[in-house]
Amino acid sequence: MTTHLEDRKTQEATASWLDEANIRACLAAAEPCAEQAAGILQKAEGMQGLTADDVSVLMNLEDPGLLQALFRTAEKVKEQIYGPRIVLFAPLYVSNRCVNECAYCAFRAGNPIERHSLTRAQVVREAEELVRQGHKRVLLVAGEDPSAEGFQHVLDSIAAVYAARVCNGEIRRVNVNIAPLTVEQFRRLKQAGIGTYQLFQETYHRETYEKYHTAGPKKDFLWRVTACDRAMEAGIDDVGIGVLFGLYDWKFEVLALLQHIRHLEERFGVGPHTISVPRLEPADGSEFAAVPPHAVPDADFRKMVAILRLAVPYTGIIMSTRENAEMRRETLRLGVSQISAGSRTDVGGYAEGCDEAPGQFELGDHRSLEEVARDLAAMGYVPSFCTACYRMGRTGMDFMDLAKPGDIKTHCDPNALSTFMEYLLDYAAPDTRAAGMLLIRQRLSAMDPQTRAFTEGQIAEVEHGKRDVFV
Ligand code: SAM
Ligand code: SF4
Repeated sequence: MTTHLEDRKTQEATASWLDEANIRACLAAAEPCAEQAAGILQKAEGMQGLTADDVSVLMNLEDPGLLQALFRTAEKVKEQIYGPRIVLFAPLYVSNRCVNECAYCAFRAGNPIERHSLTRAQVVREAEELVRQGHKRVLLVAGEDPSAEGFQHVLDSIAAVYAARVCNGEIRRVNVNIAPLTVEQFRRLKQAGIGTYQLFQETYHRETYEKYHTAGPKKDFLWRVTACDRAMEAGIDDVGIGVLFGLYDWKFEVLALLQHIRHLEERFGVGPHTISVPRLEPADGSEFAAVPPHAVPDADFRKMVAILRLAVPYTGIIMSTRENAEMRRETLRLGVSQISAGSRTDVGGYAEGCDEAPGQFELGDHRSLEEVARDLAAMGYVPSFCTACYRMGRTGMDFMDLAKPGDIKTHCDPNALSTFMEYLLDYAAPDTRAAGMLLIRQRLSAMDPQTRAFTEGQIAEVEHGKRDVFV
């Protein structure tokens, strides 16, 4: 059954927000003017976001003094809205079967690798292994199998992850990164209890998109660029978007991302919950991935994260283990709010450690969850395993209504500390536990008396053996 978002004309109309001419005009008009940049940064401190023109000016900044001012402002906004909390998750690859030919990916159909789809029992084992490490949140990932069985496998895998139990631990939120679906399928995905539906456009530059996606349903640019509309129409109000940086000019992509965000805000009253900023990494069987045509240098990458923080202050920014530990540390300061840890991108990689088939791409950070959590705590960040919002229905517009006036903090701060305490007691080694407990005490003493008393109560419940305590 096709709905009105699935015929060609409606897709063209739905995607009319993507305006290449406007992007080119913005980029051409932007001069790196010190006075103008200072005004934009002052405006950004008000945390109301930035226009495409503002963003274009900031993207063209090269002056070291102005760049430092940009980073300082991003840091301030990040601290004001997100405080020291960093949400942690792990990807869980359930299948590398794929009908598409994406030039950069090891899972592309023409790459002669061994193919697996995990059985229900194998998914449960993967999830159990992640629970044993201390994870509470996974991002379920799969190649594209457009058959009815392929979609059913995703639904069954989600159910299997939620069913996994180890002692008193379980995965409490399953986000998914899978190929675009019909509205009807998105409804079923929502019923399966997902948190966020995540999909990267790869590139918003249509010509480039068509060049690097040469076979399979993913060739269809319009089907992909309208996928979040279908997801939101189906009632999934937390969507995550992103670009695969390296395929095309990063400045073009950032302005297109902004157009996408503004479109979703106008149409559904709320924009994406998260933005991901993956950079192209080498991948087995892809010569192309080793030499990205528009590689984003580190300096530009840091600048981009800071600008996104200011342009859409209330949208989470996700940094995966594609990046190395140093880049992840630096961008936490500039705007990143969620990171993966202890990741494997091969199917069955956690429980089976199966090395016959390669992962989807090479990782830059191989540290375990424990090492990442310890490092975060040493830098003063609170690793958060909180999954409360979507379980309490604080999603989409309801989430933004709490986030924008700053009220969400009254939930996030106590929940971050109590879930971190749960992690320390159940999974951490003694030295991590000691460092984490010290951080918890420091964070408590920085709270106002009322929040502190409340949070201490929540933490005490965890210390007395209660689990999954949240507000
Ligand atoms: N197969 C689905 C799709 O392509 O939309 C969903 C999952 S795909 C496995 C997840 C993402 O991995 C893709 O959207 C792409 O951006 C990213 N990816 C693929 N190859 C990559 C590479 N070589 N380096 C970095 N990211 C890559
Ligand atoms: Fe398949 Fe996704 Fe890889 Fe493309 S990026 S080849 S669709 S798994």
